[in-house]
Amino acid sequence: MSTEPSASARRRDDPRDALIAAIEAQLAATAGFTGCARLSLPVRETLRTVPREAFVPASERKWAHANRALTIGYRQTISQPFIVALMTELLGVGPTDRVLEIGTGSGYQAAVLSRLVGAVFGVELVPELAARARQTLDALGYTNVAVRVGDGAAGWSEHAPFDAVIVTAAAPAVPPALVRQLKPGGRLVAPLGPAHDRQMLCRCVKDARGALTVERILPVAFVPLRSNPPPREG
Ligand code: SAH
Repeated sequence: MSTEPSASARRRDDPRDALIAAIEAQLAATAGFTGCARLSLPVRETLRTVPREAFVPASERKWAHANRALTIGYRQTISQPFIVALMTELLGVGPTDRVLEIGTGSGYQAAVLSRLVGAVFGVELVPELAARARQTLDALGYTNVAVRVGDGAAGWSEHAPFDAVIVTAAAPAVPPALVRQLKPGGRLVAPLGPAHDRQMLCRCVKDARGALTVERILPVAFVPLRSNPPPREG
């Protein structure tokens, strides 16, 4: 009799597979709202291989493979993996796309996108978080991600236009600069609504005349898109 664990036992024991299973269960449960019942193969493989534990502080590492948001300091969070997965699927990106991310935080969402697209341009308001994200991305060899410090509401005009824009902090409405910097046919995914209440995750598409159609996807809770960095802390 073989003492090797079976493939399915190995999968049960691997926390990365358990996380994928949790994401897929939540996608299945919310598919009635989102239209996204399961992970596409490229997104599934990317979520399995980008090491989330490298993007969270040591104190949070034991939860790195739990399907929950975690604190990254400066009163900010790395999003719940289900939300990262859903937003990535909603962006509908391809291998040559150039993607703008507003609210780069830990750099995890940017790293996930970087495996699926040509280039990612991240804007982060808190200089310390941007520096830490840069360091993590460099250490792991994610070379097609650029990060700059600044107010993401202005986008990153030097690198526009973008095929897709992802906003990972909540705003009452889509900042106009982000619409301008999106290509016709481009997708923008963002939590829209009040800063300190639930928001609606929305998927917007820019038409040939420059107008946005907005599709409401799912209620969510994000940290607010701010104009000034929060008070300093660890
Ligand atoms: N995408 C991140 C998590 C986002 S948390 C990740 O994968 O870890 C939201 C982030 O948006 C925080 O890091 C916060 O500092 C940043 N933020 C808030 N307002 C901003 C603004 N106006 N411009 C750019 N970043 C902003």
